[in-house]
Amino acid sequence: MQWRLGRLRDWRFAVGVLAPTVVLLLVMAALATGFVMWSLAGVDSRSLHRETRLVARAVERQIEEIPRIQQTVALWDDAYIQTHTVGDQQWLDNNLGVWLHDFYGFDGVAILSDRDQPIYTMADGAAPAPALFADNQSSLQPLIDELRSNLARRSQHPRTSGPYPHVREIMRISGIPALVSIMPILPQSAAIDVTSGSEYLHVAVEYLDHAFAARLDRDYGIADAVVTTGIGAANEGGAYPLFGRNGKAIAFLSWQPGRPGMELLGQVGPVLGIAFLLVGIILVLLVRRLWQSSADLESERLSARHDASHDSLTGLANRVQYDTCLARDLGPGQPPLALLLLDLDRFKQVNDTLGHTVGDDVIRTVGQRLRELVGAGDVLARLGGDEFAVIHPCRDNGSDAMALGMTIVEAMAKPFDVSGSEAFIGASIGLAISAGEDTDPRELSRKADIALYEAKARGRGRIVRYENSMSDRLQDRHMIEAELREALKRPGQLSVAYQPLYTGRTGEIAGTEALVRWTHPRLGQISPARFIPVAEGSGLIEAVGEFVLRQACSFGARWPGRRMAVNISPAQLRNPRFPERVFDLLVETAMRPSDLELEITEGILLENEGTAREALATFRNAGIRISLDDFGTGYSSLSYLKRYPVDCIKIDRSFVAQIGPSGPSTAIVQAMITLARALDIEVTAEGVETHEQMNVLRAMGCNMMQGFLLAAPDTEEEVDAKFRRASERRRLGLVEVA
Ligand code: C2E
Ligand code: CA
Ligand code: CA
Repeated sequence: MQWRLGRLRDWRFAVGVLAPTVVLLLVMAALATGFVMWSLAGVDSRSLHRETRLVARAVERQIEEIPRIQQTVALWDDAYIQTHTVGDQQWLDNNLGVWLHDFYGFDGVAILSDRDQPIYTMADGAAPAPALFADNQSSLQPLIDELRSNLARRSQHPRTSGPYPHVREIMRISGIPALVSIMPILPQSAAIDVTSGSEYLHVAVEYLDHAFAARLDRDYGIADAVVTTGIGAANEGGAYPLFGRNGKAIAFLSWQPGRPGMELLGQVGPVLGIAFLLVGIILVLLVRRLWQSSADLESERLSARHDASHDSLTGLANRVQYDTCLARDLGPGQPPLALLLLDLDRFKQVNDTLGHTVGDDVIRTVGQRLRELVGAGDVLARLGGDEFAVIHPCRDNGSDAMALGMTIVEAMAKPFDVSGSEAFIGASIGLAISAGEDTDPRELSRKADIALYEAKARGRGRIVRYENSMSDRLQDRHMIEAELREALKRPGQLSVAYQPLYTGRTGEIAGTEALVRWTHPRLGQISPARFIPVAEGSGLIEAVGEFVLRQACSFGARWPGRRMAVNISPAQLRNPRFPERVFDLLVETAMRPSDLELEITEGILLENEGTAREALATFRNAGIRISLDDFGTGYSSLSYLKRYPVDCIKIDRSFVAQIGPSGPSTAIVQAMITLARALDIEVTAEGVETHEQMNVLRAMGCNMMQGFLLAAPDTEEEVDAKFRRASERRRLGLVEVA
């Protein structure tokens, strides 16, 4: 579940934050790169444009250069004379042919007669080279014809000034692109007569080859210039077409154009790349930080949600979660549920005497033990304090839940390790099963609560299943509790009755037992058997006990030497401040400690309760007697007497009632008395109702007797009178026999 939530969160984060961020980053990077490339390409294209114009101008200059040089030799008296008359080959070489090659790099020269017959040819600095003209005559002829017709037109307007007549063209010579320039050879001076139509022509050829390109490179800085016949090879860089007569590109001058934009990119690119990388890294860090804090927030939210529904001490569900689960599982049409409410029996004492840290440890251990016992389908909750709950699917009409409850009770009865020593805590459980139509969570909780109350009232350490009759009893208990609380506030309702104690041997009155009485204005007499358990369960016993103790001590103070027995509840004894209260009362009433006898029940001894044991030792050290009430009931084992120092046992009246000639109790009572004597413990028999019982007990050597036969509980005045009479008789030397 946790894992799936984590995945969902990752997915949501990826879709909601990561994806848009990455897309935005990529788009921004693409836009920036695109813009940079676009502007750099613009720079490159403008540069190419500029270079192309430069190339055009350079080519033009080169092309114009040839006729200019050519003119210096063609317009010359000597040249005219030599060509038209002398025809000295050596002179032609030195002035019109080879010289032009050697000096100016002309590739070819032909001198044509007036009939277009070559009288001189030179190619690559070597003459004669008849193939130069012969092979290319068909290409050259249209150019020659054009020049001749120009010259004819000019002759009609003799001596007109104007540019020197010439033609030129880019064409292929022997398959190689070349510039061809043709000029008439004319005298410079007017002294020589020229017959129109008889001009000799000077044909100059300059190949547009690597030498031409190299010159462009040298003179104009056009890098890697090369002349190609097709554009294909040149399309990588700049290409400038060299057009022929008919407007057809004869060749291309291609060169490596400068790429300032790309150069700039080469310089700035790495910096830009690093900048992008840095921005990317910062973004990644930011996104990671964001992811981390979003993850933190999410886990805080989840843990807050967990905390809201769980108990921090045990990690179990808390009351809120318990309520939610109960409401959810109790819906109409749902299978029946078993609810077990658990309350620790002696947690309060551990917590009060050993502190909250130890208390917390105990609660944690309880949580652990419970966790090991409940099933996977059960809801286990801590409702607060030492209260726990198990919601269990009900099977086999609840016997399954009953079995679980019993296992839990057993597990809780095992000792707990408390600061290195063992403590017996124990637990009581109330069980309620939801009936088909009854789907109110509060009702089910109430029933389990009543059953729990009943379990505690029946002596704790047990599981009790709810029955309808318990409701009435509980109501009765609630009523009693409320009324008793009122009664304790105003004097008059509570009082103390005294039932005398007699010596077994002489039958003399030896003392009395204080018994609380409650006369309710509306309900009349309420038996202590009914309200003492309620007082014990509600904490009112301390007030009731103190009331009785004060009355008894002020009565006992007036009769030193007479024993005053007072019943003490386990709850009183567990209070660490109880001995102090008793001593205060003894001081307050001026009663002798040796006259006081505290009647306790054996349950408190079984509890293995440190506080109670310490209190008992304190009392005995102070001379207060301890007697074990209702001896023989419950778990009582005679061996306890050895372990727990008491001064007296009171054999329960249920044994005394069965004393007869052949009753089995007779033997039991005899055994009790024999053992007590061996341990030097005094024996009191309570509930003596017949002479027969009294005689048997007396024969057995019972030290003290109490019962309706001897005296019923009576008012203080009456018992006071009995004491007085007995003292009187003793003074007179009479012995009173009941
Ligand atoms: P208990 O301590 O065993 O007290 C003796 C009970 O037996 C008294 O009932 C008394 O009236 C009754 N009893 C006395 N002689 C006879 C007899 O011959 N036959 C019969 N059948 N009963 C006889 P009571 O006063 O109703 O007290 C009931 C119980 O309430 C007491 O039993 C005692 O456990 C408790 N109790 C009474 N007063 C106090 C008190 O002040 N503090 C505390 N903690 N418990 C008290
Ligand atoms: Ca008693
Ligand atoms: Ca008793």
